[in-house]
Amino acid sequence: MALVISKNWIGGEWSIPMNGKTIINNPSNLQEQVGTVNLSDESDVLQAEDAARKAQKKWAKLTGAARANYLNRMADGLKENLEELATLASSEMGKPIGEMKGEVNRGIHLLRYYAGEGVRSNGNVIPASDVNVMQYTKRVPIGVVGIITPWNFPVAIPIWKLAPALICGNALIWKPAEIASLTATKMVEIFEKSGLPAGVLNLVVGKGSDVGKTLLEKVNLNAVSFTGSSVTGSLVAQTCAKRNIKYQTEMGGKNAAVVMNDADLEKSIPMVLSGAFRSAGQKCTATSRIIVESGIYDEFIEKIQKGVAELNVGPALEENTYLGPVASKIQFDKVKSYVDIAHKDTTIVAEPKLSINSEGYYVSPIVVTGADSDHQLVQEEIFGPMATILKANDFDDAIRLCNKTVYGLSASLFTNNLSSAHRFLDETEAGMVRVNQETAGVEYQAPFGGMKLSSSHTREQGQAALDFYTETKTCAIKYF
Ligand code: NAD
Repeated sequence: MALVISKNWIGGEWSIPMNGKTIINNPSNLQEQVGTVNLSDESDVLQAEDAARKAQKKWAKLTGAARANYLNRMADGLKENLEELATLASSEMGKPIGEMKGEVNRGIHLLRYYAGEGVRSNGNVIPASDVNVMQYTKRVPIGVVGIITPWNFPVAIPIWKLAPALICGNALIWKPAEIASLTATKMVEIFEKSGLPAGVLNLVVGKGSDVGKTLLEKVNLNAVSFTGSSVTGSLVAQTCAKRNIKYQTEMGGKNAAVVMNDADLEKSIPMVLSGAFRSAGQKCTATSRIIVESGIYDEFIEKIQKGVAELNVGPALEENTYLGPVASKIQFDKVKSYVDIAHKDTTIVAEPKLSINSEGYYVSPIVVTGADSDHQLVQEEIFGPMATILKANDFDDAIRLCNKTVYGLSASLFTNNLSSAHRFLDETEAGMVRVNQETAGVEYQAPFGGMKLSSSHTREQGQAALDFYTETKTCAIKYF
């Protein structure tokens, strides 16, 4: 693959920012350079603000149907370039190619779904108290929106923000994660071909602590949509609250899969494994805690051991890879530090020896027992291929353990008991709750987001995204 360089796209022009460079090596094979990320400074961010402000009003004046045409062409472009984009993204951040193609496909569906919103109802007629008054609501664009995204879904997360924001008539300044900036550049090159008017979408590549901070502190934004860690999210929220900028922060998780005595283990184990280890555990909805009812505990351990032994760890571009490397040196060091803690404090149930021919950021999938429910392995987001098993005495104990976390993103129950299923959906403190399905996995047409420290209590995707990217105007006309 030819070397890729990141660029900014501001006001419809490509430029290479000059505030330093980061070399990106393929996490599946550190000998292979994928490209160079060129970093922006404050002046690039301010230029993007200017471009977005100039473009927004005209974009908002178009009909929803006209904006939808652009989104549909963006989807067409992604479809034509699916293989190339997925290959670049897998090489940049290590997600297995099969999953990455699925992610690009998700992006295509998201764009088409939100294109449809351009011609759907955007308000309600509300009876007025007075005679001869027509009172109604309409959604209006919020203005210029800052979009700050993480690296773990380098295609789908940006699109689930960009697509609803654009269809609602906003102009955008997008700052992707540093280690997903090559993919971001390629995506915007594809989107450019849709003919999007200059300044409606602006890409500014750079460090969070620099470009992200400037965007939040110096730009006259009307809204910010952020996905990333809870630590950064809390900074984003504080800055936005001080400046009265509308914000949403979608953040970390410590998600539990609960397996009851009556679960169908043959069907449940593959879903638990997929939730914990696909994408090397680097999904905000990944299963990080497995809570198992005591009656099947020993059988479950035996089966999960066998299941983990069969997982294929390998380079992201090999089709039969189940989990690839973690995304970067920072991720590798962080996950390894938790693996060291596991070796010191817990019993290792599964940690197969790896045999891979290339040097990369590979971490063996690891399952542990023996950590109590307060232990840092059970409480902190690891964001890697590690799961901790906890034993529950009964259903109530399982719910107690499941809710014993500061996070509240997703949770799953495996059971054949209808009452347990309903009680779980009622009593679990998480935004995404599922029965007999893995903790990871979202549908673009349904609201997505968390409770507690996982979110600013806003929701993305589905119709919920339209609420964030618009303001509601209540209109009234008296006629005589
Ligand atoms: P991160 O918080 O380090 O970075 C996220 C984004 O914020 C990046 O673009 C980064 O450059 C930027 N940033 C960093 N510091 C900033 C600052 N001071 N001001 C403004 N922007 C700043 O997160 P990450 O490592 O990229 O992503 C992993 C995290 O994302 C995990 O915690 C994961 O759970 C979370 N995540 C959440 C969801 C969700 O929808 N809830 C989805 C995916 C990932």
